[in-house]
Amino acid sequence: MADWLAALDRRADLRAKAGLTRRLRPRAAGDPVVDLAGNDYLGLATHPEVTAAAARALSAYGLGATGSRLVRGSTDAHHALEDALADWLGTAGALVFSSGYLANLAAVRAVVQPRTLLVSDAHNHASLIDGCRISGAETVVTAHADVAAVAAALAANPGRPAVVVTESVFSVDGDLAPLAELHAVARAHGALLLVDDAHGLGVVGPEGAGGVAAAGLAGQPDVVLTATLSKALGGAGGVVAGPAPFVRHLIETGRTFIFDTAPPPAVVAGVHAAVGLARAGGELRAELAERAALAVRRLRAARLTVSDPDGAVVSVTAPGPEAATAWAADCRDRGVAVGCFRPPSTPDSRSRLRLTISAGVPRADFERALDVIVECAP
Ligand code: PMP
Repeated sequence: MADWLAALDRRADLRAKAGLTRRLRPRAAGDPVVDLAGNDYLGLATHPEVTAAAARALSAYGLGATGSRLVRGSTDAHHALEDALADWLGTAGALVFSSGYLANLAAVRAVVQPRTLLVSDAHNHASLIDGCRISGAETVVTAHADVAAVAAALAANPGRPAVVVTESVFSVDGDLAPLAELHAVARAHGALLLVDDAHGLGVVGPEGAGGVAAAGLAGQPDVVLTATLSKALGGAGGVVAGPAPFVRHLIETGRTFIFDTAPPPAVVAGVHAAVGLARAGGELRAELAERAALAVRRLRAARLTVSDPDGAVVSVTAPGPEAATAWAADCRDRGVAVGCFRPPSTPDSRSRLRLTISAGVPRADFERALDVIVECAP
């Protein structure tokens, strides 16, 4: 075997010995497994109005956008979705990207000026971490949800432009960042607040407008928000929303916007339909909150260590990476898919099962899935 491939094999062996092998598992359409691993929080990925809107756009525009947004890829479907998102999020503007990852890379880079300090939460998603790295700005990582640490980092750098970077509902443990407090601290130091609302959008806030709206920060001139369109909205893509000059700056300078082929019009049209359903989805959100509370009660009653979820993400601590892998595999063998998070995908050394609760799963299946998780616990 070529040397470089042998070296890769040795690294794979080391990961295997530590119980950290990652594997792809194809799922078939109509898979009967109860899904507590995907992020289709409101069940909109398969909603007939969503798939019908996507099908109409598919036959009207064809499969792909055929170009980047500034060339040929900007269809009226893209502009209509951006208007709908800005209206929902309460921002002057919104710009759609091919993914939440690319949206975060562009958003962080766009808020950085010479000498900017980024203050980034220790539980932030990889896309925010990479955004900080790519921006080239000095980055201070603060302890998770620690407002005093953020204030101290800002106070230690007086007179410098600064941006506080956080998620809203965190993807690791499902807790909501103290956004109002972070905003107050940021504003007191003349800093901006950048929030990734990936797991909050559609799930929390008035009309499901997300954690930023829930904290009363929608439309503030010193707040920028990003989100993925792939979770509660059931599709794919990302959005950056904020003040109009910021969105114009992104259109003209955002590398992951300018040099990337626009997201497919069919997906964009499907997501637009999902926005309407998500806004009107108060009953789905109530069901989701009730199910998250039920999951916490049931799992804690079985003496498992469970996070305090503010949205639809519930994490359950596993004794170690191998135990987490075996627990998730046993659940899957019994027809329940759960997320299995181990280092380095966790911000601390803790391995977890991550349950992402969906109002789209039949209630009886959801309750049975909780029993299976308890019965398979190590
Ligand atoms: N931010 C967070 C918090 C996420 O959980 C994810 C999805 N894993 C992303 C960003 C990236 O979004 P996308 O999958 O659309 O690239």
